[in-house]
Amino acid sequence: MALNIGSFTYVTSNMLKKDSQPGLRTINPATGDVTIHPSLKIRVVKVSGAPYPKPDRVEMVQGKIVKAKMQCKDINALVKRLNDLARSSYRQVLSDPNWQAMYRCPGGTASIPYITPAASATTNTEEAYPCHNCGLVMPTRLVQIDHHHPQSGGSGMAVLKALRACGYTVGVAGGPKAGQLQSGVYAFIPPKGSPSGTFTHSTASSVLRYTLSDEGSIFLTVAAVANQVGALKSVCVNSVINLVPLCAYCNGSAGKGHGVKPVRP
Ligand SMILES: [Zn+2]
Repeated sequence: MALNIGSFTYVTSNMLKKDSQPGLRTINPATGDVTIHPSLKIRVVKVSGAPYPKPDRVEMVQGKIVKAKMQCKDINALVKRLNDLARSSYRQVLSDPNWQAMYRCPGGTASIPYITPAASATTNTEEAYPCHNCGLVMPTRLVQIDHHHPQSGGSGMAVLKALRACGYTVGVAGGPKAGQLQSGVYAFIPPKGSPSGTFTHSTASSVLRYTLSDEGSIFLTVAAVANQVGALKSVCVNSVINLVPLCAYCNGSAGKGHGVKPVRP
């Protein structure tokens, strides 16, 4: 499923008709600017709950006054960016050159130990990935792909994570992955080095990083009016942004923090 609000430029007149206060939302045909009047209360995504955002606390709310404008070309560029980063199947990231550059073992391969039928130790050089949590090296066929924010219950968070990586949240992305996605220059991201079974997700310090900027709020409103929130969630859950390699143990229930259910291959 691809996100499709490419006809947004033409849909906007319908958006205005649907709006109970049409005069407060204007489009400049010459520049493509979409302006939300400060007195118009539009729908925004708000992350609530303490101490850290939880997937089930992401909701559309009424009442925030937004003072911002976003150009149609920026909206369309963001749609293209999100679609480009999405994979129809999450295991497809294993063949994605940029994802490989970030997560595969340096050099692409590792010496994997085996025991032969004659009971002697041997090794075989194979394409391999380290678990992004504990660092255990695995041949590619044993790698499990973790949805950092899962399909079940975490899709709203996946949307916020993707929009953060694209620069549409109040708090900026802190990790190397977002920087690489923005620069287009990809390099190996070392594992966290955490003990097996301590893989965690959001923390208290991440609230602002999961809060949309006003421009991000406008984008989400546009997606909602175009009935594309479901497509947006689907695209972001299976985004390169949201997928990391884990070993079976760290991807299992023992390795998941904050009650986020793992998605297994
Ligand atoms: Zn692991």
